[in-house]
Formats: sequence, structure tokens, C-alpha cells
Amino acid sequence: MAQNAEKCSFCRQVHSSDTPLIAGLDGHICESCARLAAQVVESWGRKRSVAKPLQKVPIPHEIKRQLDDYVIGQDAAKLTLAVAVYNHYKRLQAETAVIDCAMAAAGRVEVEKSNILLLGPSGTGKTLLASTLAKIVGVPFAIADATTLTQAGYVGEDVESIISRLLDAADGNRERAEWGIVYIDEIDKLARAGESSQATRDVSGEGVQQALLKLVEGTVVKIAERNRKEKDAGLLDTRNILFIAGGAFAGLEAILNRRMRPKNTGIGFHSAPDSDRGAQSDPDLFDQTRPEDLRHFGLIPEFIGRFPVITALQELDEATLVRILTEPRNALVKQYQQLFSYEQVELEFEPEALTAIARDAVARGTGARGLRSVLESLLKQVMYDLPSESGVERCTVSEAAVMGEAAIQYQYCVAGADADDREQAAG
Ligand code: ADP
Repeated sequence: MAQNAEKCSFCRQVHSSDTPLIAGLDGHICESCARLAAQVVESWGRKRSVAKPLQKVPIPHEIKRQLDDYVIGQDAAKLTLAVAVYNHYKRLQAETAVIDCAMAAAGRVEVEKSNILLLGPSGTGKTLLASTLAKIVGVPFAIADATTLTQAGYVGEDVESIISRLLDAADGNRERAEWGIVYIDEIDKLARAGESSQATRDVSGEGVQQALLKLVEGTVVKIAERNRKEKDAGLLDTRNILFIAGGAFAGLEAILNRRMRPKNTGIGFHSAPDSDRGAQSDPDLFDQTRPEDLRHFGLIPEFIGRFPVITALQELDEATLVRILTEPRNALVKQYQQLFSYEQVELEFEPEALTAIARDAVARGTGARGLRSVLESLLKQVMYDLPSESGVERCTVSEAAVMGEAAIQYQYCVAGADADDREQAAG
């Protein structure tokens, strides 16, 4: 009789052949409570080392405001990212707190992770947004290039190496790495050839998608022990890592246009060819992307399902590129001005020159990435000459200089001062 009355001291589950109890000095515990207790104990270490830097997750407005300091334009993407990142870290914080008050965990609703897919042309700020987000939240960050990844066992970099890199970014702190952000670039290159061309489909990209899927869903990765201190070696859980994937998705426009094309466009001699239809060049077209479009593009459904937040970045126009040259905290113009200041020379750009640089970058078609190469080739000769010149006080870049029709103007002044000095000396 006394045996029948034995209950788990935590959940009151009665002892039976299916529910064995572990007896303590003053009570009992059942298997599920013992497992929950193990989770709680495991979370203590994580809470101590990770929850601390994230005691205050910045609110979406604050995340957006801070993103504005570094990334110009892309407001829709910033807003989506601010919400997704806020929710992700709020969820993690809440989870840690709930696990803390042990038994409440049993009844809580599991909030799923919101990994993010960024669609947008090259050089529009996808990597910049992901890395800036990590900086704002204060978590470690790692970048991977999907084109270099292979399935385990093949020659190349296997997907687990991403996690190893994240651990490096976290200075070997496993708990911090488990709350990090990973950006996977060129994800579109993993697509198999479109659904319609089964004969030519390439399975290697699909294999990498499968391998990534496990990582993104949450798995325990064994970290290679090479180059690591004993305490760092071991297992790393990817369940709470936020994955952001990005790609240019060239060719997706055609899929979107096909889906959104009105049914009555008809066929025949008088129907307009695809290229004549206005929707083709709609800059907001990618905003309409739905999971099924990505499936048609060649991503596997399970993979798409793991990236519930999809947002598009716009192609950068001339006016935005001018702002990118001058406005961000570490704007390119500010960087070159800093470089010149080491030579005690002031670098000045006429407003028309900035527009001409932006125009040149647009023509290169590599987004904001083109700006640096335009500036580098523009200023190369000056940066070569300046250290051998004396008395230059200011360099002025005009529109004609950008277009290669005139030289960059030097303004000398120290020569005059020298002359004054000499005069003074002579006096
Ligand atoms: P993507 O990942 O989309 O190919 P990146 O984020 O790597 O492009 O951008 C390339 C460079 O261009 C970055 O170093 C960044 O300085 C600049 N850049 C791109 N987009 C923006 C933007 N919207 N605002 C400010 N700088 C940008």
C-alpha cells in the first residue's frame, strides 16, 4: 500500500511499472522531471556567460536607428530584420528565464526560430546588414560562402566548419557562440536547375542544402579539436544560432513575372514578348517573393521552410550611392579623408564629383562595391605622389577629374608659409 502511494515530488506522477521513480532521502523524482532538471542545470552555465551581455535586447526601433548609422536605404529590409532579430533574442532570453523556473517550462508555447533570407543584387548591403546586426546585439558573427561548402566527406569545406568559425569569433566561448549569428552568402548558387529541367539537375547543391538544413534546424556539432585548447573542444548546439542567408537570385524575376502575369495576356502574334512587359523591371518585384517561387527556383522545400522571414533589398541608384559615399559612420569619403589627413592634406570632393563617382559605380553594376574601386583608381596617382610632395594643403576632386578630363587640383600654402618664415628669418 505504501509502495502504491509513492509519487514524484515534483509533478505528483504516481509510481507504476511504466513510471519508475528514483528515491531520494525525503522524496522521489520521475524520469521526465529528472530530464527537465538536467536541462535546467545545463542552462545555468549558458545563462551566466551569455544572458549577461544580452540582458537588454535593443527594441526594434533602436535596432533600426543603429542600422541607419551604417546602412543607407533598404528601409523595408531593415524593419523586417529589426523585428526578426528582436524576436529571436527575446525568445532566447525568455527561454532561459523559463528554464530557470523549472517546472513552468512544461506548459510553455515553443516559439520557433525565425531565420532570415535576404534577396537582393550583389553589393546592396546584405552582408553589411547581417554583420551590423550582430554588432548591435553584441553577439559573435561568422560569414560563410555557400559556393565553397560541400557535403561532409567531399573535397572542400564542410558545413560544420561554419560553426568552428563562429566559435573563433566568440573567442572560443561555446555558450556565446551558441547565440551567435551566421551569414551564408550566395545561397542561390545551391539551387538545382529549375523544376522543369530535371534532366540537367545538379544534385551537389541539393546535398549541401540538406547538410545545411540539419545545421539550421539545430544539431550538435562536434568541433574539431585541432588548434583548440582542451576546455574549448567538444560539442556545440546550433539550435539557437540565428542563420541569415543571402543571394542575388538572378532569374527569380522571370519566375515571379510568370506567376503574377495576368491570365488573359494570351498567346499569338499580338501578344507581347516577356521582355516587353513592364513588371520585368519593377524594383519592388522581389518583395512579392513567396516560398513556392523559391521552390521553383530550385531550393528544396524543407530548406525554404527553415527561413520563414524573407525580405528583399533594392538595387542602389545614383542618389543612394552618393549618400553611401558620405553618410555612414565609416563612409568611404571619410576613410580617404582620414588617410590624407595622415599627410596633413585636406581632401575635398565637389558635389558634382560625388555624383560622377556614383554614376561610374552604377555603370560597373556591382552596387556599392564599385564605389571603392572607382575611388581607388581615381586617387591612386595622388596617393602615390603626395608623400614626395611638400607644401600641399588641399586636394580638390572635380567632376572633370572623375571623368578623366582634368587632373586633381593641389592647393599649396605651406610654400607661402615657408616664404614667410624665410622672410622672417631674413628680417
Ligand atoms: P552584398 O552582401 O549585398 O553583396 P555587401 O554588404 O558586402 O553587399 O556590400 C559591399 C560593400 O558596399 C560594403 O562594404 C558596404 O560598405 C557597401 N554597401 C553596400 N550597400 C550599402 C548600403 N546600403 N549602405 C552603405 N554601404 C553599403
